[in-house]
Amino acid sequence: MDYDVIIIGAGPGGIYSAYELKKMRSDLKVAVFEAGQELKKRRCPIDGEKVKKCIGCKSCSIMSGFGGAGAFSDGKYNITNDFGGTLYEHIGRTRAIELMKYVDSINIENGGEGCKLYSTAGTTLKKTCMQNKLKLLDASVRHLGTDINYVVLENLYNYLKDSVDFFFNTDITSMEVIEGGYRAVHKKGSATCRQCIISVGRSGSKWMESVCEKLGIKAKSNRVDIGVRVELPAVIFSHLTDELYESKIVYRTEKFEDNVRTFCMNPHGIVVTENTNGIITVNGHSYEAADKQTENTNFALLVAKHFSEPFKDSNGYGESIARLSNMLGGGVIVQRFGDLMRGRRSNEKRIAEGMVQPTLNATPGDLSLVLPKRILDGIMEMIHALDKIAPGTANDDTLLYGVEVKFYNMEVEVNENLETEYPGLYIIGDGSGVTHSLSHASASGVYVARRIAQEI
Ligand SMILES: Cc1cc2nc3c(=O)[nH]c(=O)nc-3n(C[C@H](O)[C@H](O)[C@H](O)COP(=O)(O)OP(=O)(O)OC[C@H]3O[C@@H](n4cnc5c(N)ncnc54)[C@H](O)[C@@H]3O)c2cc1C
Repeated sequence: MDYDVIIIGAGPGGIYSAYELKKMRSDLKVAVFEAGQELKKRRCPIDGEKVKKCIGCKSCSIMSGFGGAGAFSDGKYNITNDFGGTLYEHIGRTRAIELMKYVDSINIENGGEGCKLYSTAGTTLKKTCMQNKLKLLDASVRHLGTDINYVVLENLYNYLKDSVDFFFNTDITSMEVIEGGYRAVHKKGSATCRQCIISVGRSGSKWMESVCEKLGIKAKSNRVDIGVRVELPAVIFSHLTDELYESKIVYRTEKFEDNVRTFCMNPHGIVVTENTNGIITVNGHSYEAADKQTENTNFALLVAKHFSEPFKDSNGYGESIARLSNMLGGGVIVQRFGDLMRGRRSNEKRIAEGMVQPTLNATPGDLSLVLPKRILDGIMEMIHALDKIAPGTANDDTLLYGVEVKFYNMEVEVNENLETEYPGLYIIGDGSGVTHSLSHASASGVYVARRIAQEI
């Protein structure tokens, strides 16, 4: 065998697997194959001047490369079983939290010292939310910020690079089961290993599906979250963000009894585009450094859509809606809340005259032509509910960017070791459908690395 362990994907799942393997078994020969670039070469060409919109690079620097989709993220490591994935269903609640705390300690040692840990424990905001039909979920969150998150990744790469073989710009095209292990095939050749960790995240979702189909690994998919990203003056949410940084708030709509939730809150942050398999959606992040902060806060409002038989392609549904916004707006559409409520599109003039300066150059338009009524009604209800705990949320000038889609990878059938029915073939992180966040993906990496370290 060329390697004891091959890791496919250098996102948080892959990185923390490699980290723990090196720490526990420095004698093992480990390789990481990554479709994107190494960290220092990752650069999204959108500069707001020459390149204003996503040009659909072959490998999206936001989603791919060392650090994975998390590299330029806000670096919010949520330590909780309440959201961010269902790792606890496989490994137990206590162990999941222990591993998330362990990952947090590694981040602290590698540049994250001094970054604040926020917590919902004992906050009075919980009561205020409840009095207004909103539920604040429990969590502790370490906010590294995009800049410190980058420093942590740089340090982790420096720690790993001499003892782990990294192959960048090398996407694995197929997996073969061979005697005593696995062969990972790429365009320039192949490599064999005794055990293999697949951690390909959201950008690898289509490839993951093909691997499952080829190897007969069972997988199910029935959920997609669809919504908008809200951007408003940071002061409106400051009483929540100063205390909690990110508040995960859930609202149950009166009309359809759907759950709408806040997601990925970025105080003083910026709104960005995201390219998943050629479809442009919206996201956001924020920097820790004061000079890079903006006057605005952004967060997503998402409605979860679960489908039942006979429909199976929940991601396809989300993609179709995102495509509609791409078709109408050439990418992401932005609309003032006031315009949405009045049933008219936004235009450049109305946006420019508004109180909120957009941090993303999106096309002014009409989200009601894109989002299904049920989802849009839920979002509008939620904005009015949030207005009660953060007055000003429902102001006319509040900006809504669409669409934000949270694609869920199909949930792959893995056992309590996150191992498939093939011994030594592990599927972890967001690519497994088990995790949907930095801390859960990283924790899943540590978990399998510890198991492999004992097994080999
Ligand atoms: C803009 C943005 C902001 C975010 N902010 C947060 C946040 O603040 N907090 C949070 O918890 N989560 C956040 N997330 C989500 C978080 O980044 C992911 O949950 C996390 O990165 C998942 O880690 P992963 O290792 O499973 O997958 P990924 O990070 O997606 O990494 C997978 C890697 O595998 C590579 N790959 C894919 N296919 C192949 C292949 N065939 N061969 C080789 N390599 C392949 C990809 O190039 C990628 O680098 C954010 C995401 C985005 C896009």
